[in-house]
Amino acid sequence: MLEMWRRSVRFLLRPKYGAMRQMFAEGKEMKVEDYLPKIAEDLRIDAKKLQEEYDKKNVQLVEEYEIPYLRFKRDVKDVQEGTVAFIDKEIVYARGFPKIRRAVILESTLKKQMKDRFQVEEKLDGYNVRTIFLNDLVCITRKGIVCPYTTKHVKSILGTNQFFKENPELMLCGEVVGLQNPYQTKSYPEAKDFGYFVFDIKDRKSGKSLPSDVKNDMVKKYALPSVKNFGIFTIDDSGVLLDLVRTMGEDKREGIVIKSLDMSRQIKYTSNQSTNNDLRYAFKFFFDYGQPFMFRRLIREAFQAYELGLSKEQLEKEADELGRSILLPMVETIRAIADGRETTEDFEIAVPDADFGKAFIAHLQHLGVKATIEKVSERAGQTVIKVKRHYPSTNDKTKAYLDGEFCSE
Ligand code: ATP
Repeated sequence: MLEMWRRSVRFLLRPKYGAMRQMFAEGKEMKVEDYLPKIAEDLRIDAKKLQEEYDKKNVQLVEEYEIPYLRFKRDVKDVQEGTVAFIDKEIVYARGFPKIRRAVILESTLKKQMKDRFQVEEKLDGYNVRTIFLNDLVCITRKGIVCPYTTKHVKSILGTNQFFKENPELMLCGEVVGLQNPYQTKSYPEAKDFGYFVFDIKDRKSGKSLPSDVKNDMVKKYALPSVKNFGIFTIDDSGVLLDLVRTMGEDKREGIVIKSLDMSRQIKYTSNQSTNNDLRYAFKFFFDYGQPFMFRRLIREAFQAYELGLSKEQLEKEADELGRSILLPMVETIRAIADGRETTEDFEIAVPDADFGKAFIAHLQHLGVKATIEKVSERAGQTVIKVKRHYPSTNDKTKAYLDGEFCSE
């Protein structure tokens, strides 16, 4: 495989840089190691360090996409996990999307972490997709994998947009939401099946975000689909924002992201209702979702209930809902498995044809997602594939306990 890649790279690459150009001129075979010093230089990390991380497979060569790329599976110094270096005619980067810190108490966190004014946007609950232009649109997931399924759908949304024609060095960061995807299935009224909403525009090589006013202007100029912008608030607005998030939760919406105007700081804050939704989902597959996933959410709920100053009755109602979100899905799963049924997550994806669908499921399996195709059908001129995602830990362990094994939790 590596040999095949090396051969194809020899034709793909016309290196501009010293040693690499020299090797090509001499007709020498290029190996991935030959690009590492240039990539290290571009990303401002030590070349030896990058080589070490590559040897440890923390930086991985991905050959399945038509243009081979290096993918950072972990942070390496200041280079974010999810960063990708495509080895095309030149090396093209897509910097990883940074972690957004979470507030659990809004009032004090705003005062401590933010300067006077900031922009507040809706936080959509889907999956993070960076889009760049590289011969054509390419969509990259948070972990730094090119996703053919997402690319195809985002192309149908942004395909004719002039944005990349006029700004080829920029990268759109957005959230995919809707029921038709294999990563996260939450529907919104404005995007029932598949929607892509931009929340950040960055320089693809440095990863630096455009300031929020420039981003807002670009979103308007190119009519980009975008997350809702609630406008500018100040550090004294925590009460207003708490109310806003509470109302969003009642509408089954996740919460907000608070962004300094120069985009150097971002804070996320989500509603208790959306935390409950996460718990309800995770407790259905309780042995597959780690305990930290659950514990983190309980902490959020408790601090929000405190800051809201809930009355005794309101608090009891929240406690009741929290208990339901935990116990009901667990018992439902145990009952299903006791009845001999497997607990799975079922979803549909719309694909150009059955072969694309099969190749995509194979791609997911390769990434470690245990998914199988249940049914392929044609609907309204589209090929629709019904997929089952399996959760083996939950099913196997539950069955073992039902069969009398000792509990190891
Ligand atoms: P992290 O905490 O590392 O950012 P996570 O996946 O654990 O990642 P989430 O709770 O999903 O964290 O929140 C961060 C994610 O929220 C972003 O990566 C982005 O995909 C998504 N998001 C949705 N709407 C927005 C928005 N308006 N601005 C920024 N991010 C948004």
